[in-house]
Amino acid sequence: MKLIPEIQSAQGEIQTLRRTIHAHPELRYEETHTADLVAQKLAEWGIEVHRGLGKTGVVGMLKRGNGPKSIGLRADMDALPIQELNTFEHRSRNDGKMHACGHDGHTAMLLGAAQYLAKHGQFDGTIVFIFQPAEEGGAGAKAMIKDGLFERFPVDAVFGIHNWPGMPAGFFGVTEGPIMASSNEFHINIKGVGSHAALPHNGRDPVFTAVQIANGLQGIITRNKKPLDTAVLSITQIHAGDAVNVVPNEAWIAGTVRTFTTETLDLIESRLRKIAESTAEAYDCSVEVTFLRNYPPTVNSGAETQFAAEVMREVVGEDRVDAKVEPTMGAEDFSFMLLEKPGCYAFLGNGDGGHRESGHGAGPCMLHNASYDFNDQLLPVGSSYWVHLATKFLAKK
Ligand SMILES: [Zn+2]
Ligand SMILES: [Zn+2]
Repeated sequence: MKLIPEIQSAQGEIQTLRRTIHAHPELRYEETHTADLVAQKLAEWGIEVHRGLGKTGVVGMLKRGNGPKSIGLRADMDALPIQELNTFEHRSRNDGKMHACGHDGHTAMLLGAAQYLAKHGQFDGTIVFIFQPAEEGGAGAKAMIKDGLFERFPVDAVFGIHNWPGMPAGFFGVTEGPIMASSNEFHINIKGVGSHAALPHNGRDPVFTAVQIANGLQGIITRNKKPLDTAVLSITQIHAGDAVNVVPNEAWIAGTVRTFTTETLDLIESRLRKIAESTAEAYDCSVEVTFLRNYPPTVNSGAETQFAAEVMREVVGEDRVDAKVEPTMGAEDFSFMLLEKPGCYAFLGNGDGGHRESGHGAGPCMLHNASYDFNDQLLPVGSSYWVHLATKFLAKK
């Protein structure tokens, strides 16, 4: 492992920052104290600070020499509306809010790199540190882009990391092409005519129609989409009726669709609309379909991914990098940045949960679990990766 000694010696300071952020989690677009802390540290280290992109986003700019190249390094700062079960010292002080996705660690790793680069960095070009708000369902990356992120701070490529529980601590996982899926939701409102349950012929049954539509939708996945194109459609809600002997007037279906390409998503949306509309018509009901495209797929570009994987191998060793990691059907709003710029999103193993101190609640756990905690051992690994990635990228011909 080739961690940077100065980063290792600063581990205590960065760990304190990480735990301070963990103890004071803030939800999407409310990250004012976290953003204050980030901005204050960047300024303290002599990095030019810009605020207010995407409401609470922070950008740090570090320029050396006249080199024309520039690189964007991105971390997210927001927490989740979860009541933390951990009882350790740095547990959440904010009721009902928690850093259960490890964004506290992402912010700290990038701060660790910023500190090193400001003090010791030897490079020619510009490093843009992007601290974004609202990754959890708020599309904070999109909001920063809308506020001129890449016009005001042009970068040649942009990179991100997510901590990954279950993967051994300090191992990297990355892959070219899609690494995370698009995330979309649909709502289908079926309107019929209610009746006495004993006299269904007097009405037009929206419950029966909803069931036909729900069955039909899974046919899109098995019959319409190419078998080799990955996609999942889950119906997660069916609501209708109040009484056992009454056919109601309306029924509602809702669910999510995940895909790795926009083409597959286009196909699924159009088939979903057609099946809902024509099935409703067949049973004399009317239907309203709302289809929301929340996050696009996160697609890593080839050259940047190969470059990032090389840097990972240098930092943690060949045997700790899986450059063909299995993509996940989860979603990530870094995808919006990858629609604008080439770049690479990677996973950094958070281990099996054994790092957590006593009083952490039950066993190892996944992201978004009330007992989750970012593994502080990753701080020097992530920071060293960022430093090597940025300096090598800027030195590349
Ligand atoms: Zn999350
Ligand atoms: Zn996350």
